[in-house]
Order: sequence, then structure tokens, then C-alpha cells
Amino acid sequence: MDVILLGTGTPMPHPDRAGPATLVKAGGSNILIDCGRAVVMRLAASGVGPQAISAVLITHMHSDHISDLNDVITTHWVMNPGPARLQVFGPPGIRGVVDATLAMLALDIGYRIAHHADLNAPPDVVVTELSPGTGFSVSDCHVTAHATEHAPAAPSLGYRISHDGAVAAIAGDTIPCKGLDELCLGADVYVQATIRDDLVKRVPSRRLQDILDYHSTAEQAAQTAQRAGVKTLMLTHYVPPLQPGQEEEWLIRMRPHFSGEIVLGNDLTSVSVTAKPR
Ligand SMILES: [Zn+2]
Ligand SMILES: [Zn+2]
Repeated sequence: MDVILLGTGTPMPHPDRAGPATLVKAGGSNILIDCGRAVVMRLAASGVGPQAISAVLITHMHSDHISDLNDVITTHWVMNPGPARLQVFGPPGIRGVVDATLAMLALDIGYRIAHHADLNAPPDVVVTELSPGTGFSVSDCHVTAHATEHAPAAPSLGYRISHDGAVAAIAGDTIPCKGLDELCLGADVYVQATIRDDLVKRVPSRRLQDILDYHSTAEQAAQTAQRAGVKTLMLTHYVPPLQPGQEEEWLIRMRPHFSGEIVLGNDLTSVSVTAKPR
């Protein structure tokens, strides 16, 4: 199993950090979690084109996590040589987002069907709205959805993806909570959106201060990883953006709380997990 950070940014644009998105490659599956800004460019860089996505899992409906879902839908549709179904999973509300996205694309879809003799049907997008605790399969991977805490963006979900004994826990934006602990329990890799509260507090912006109460700090991510017995913690979605040379400053805050491996990811940073013998 490979866990690849496609985008490690946030709503604030950054030249080197695409919007939030993570790719889990396992067995024959390419599972995309969230579709932030420029996700299709980062997919291309990862060597997995959008046409090869097996399923899209959305953690919550904040715009930074869904802004390029339309691009994934379109490129999955036009780059597949024949009819291809795209499965999209997410919390309640995702169906409305996909319906509205398809409505926004209606003119383009009409143009392409009119122009290409071998393109005769609109994108085949199948949406499943999930409750926490729901389990499902994406080809040979097993996925379970877990409740996270990011109110008022609620409900929000994290996804636990298992394949051949390897487990990846992909959390979106959340504070520590019971659902997050269950999501991460014994995971090989735990991906967490994170903030540095000490740096955010120094910024004289009321709107930025508001983010403090619904994201995990670096220390909290480390504490969650330790509680859950995680092997590798991967950080993403940094507020403020992690600057080159600042890595040790982040690690010093986290190491007292977590004895496992910490990966401060950039776009396209990946971690490979070897399947465990059963
Ligand atoms: Zn969010
Ligand atoms: Zn976010």
C-alpha cells in the first residue's frame, strides 16, 4: 500500500502546496480522498491519471476539500476510452454537491457528447452518502467511515482503508475525538490535517483565530497517534504553511508526545506499507 499526499495546502493559495487531497494505492485500487485545488495536476505527477481513480472519498464539504471535484469528474469521464463509473462517497450532503457539480458541467457535457462520436452518455457518477461506522469495499480494499469533529462542517468523516493487512487512516480536518481514535487504532499510516496554534495565535486576524477550535494542533496529532498505537504519522494541510527549514521546529513540539515515525509531508510525499503476513 502506498499513501501519497497529493496536496498539502489549505484554502489559502500557495505556489507549492495544492489543495487537500490524498491518494491511497493498494492492490488494484486507486482511492482518492478529497479533491482540493489542482488535484488532477498532482494525480498526473503521481503517475495515476484521473481515469484510473477507483473511488473518491470526501471527508467534508469545506470548499478546499471539494473545489476540484468537477475536474476529477470531467477528466475521469473523458479520459476513459469507454463507459466508466466513478464512485463518490461522503457524508450526507455529498449527493447535493455532486448533483450541483453535474448541473454546472451540463453545457460542457452537452458539447462533448455532440462533438465526439464515441461519447454518448454523461459522466456516470454513483454517489453514496455514508453514516459513521459504515463499511464498504472498493475492489480489493475495505473501507470504513468514522465520525470526526469539525463543526459546523458536520458531519465530517475520516476513512480507514485496509488491504492485505496494511491499514491507512486518513483524517480530514478534525479535533481529537473518539471517532478519530477509532479511525486510527493500530494504523500503519495516519494522515492528519494540522495547525500550529502558537503561530496562528500571533496573527492579528479574527478570521484566522476562528480556525483554532476545529483543527488538530501538531501536538494533538502526535497525541492521537500515540494513543492509537499508530506506526507513522503524516502531517498535511498546514496552517500556517510549513516553510522549508522549519521542520525541526514542528518536530520538537511533537516528539515528546509520539514515539513513532513522523513525516512532514510536502506535495507528492509518499509512505509505503508492506502487507503483513496473516
Ligand atoms: Zn474543513
Ligand atoms: Zn480544510
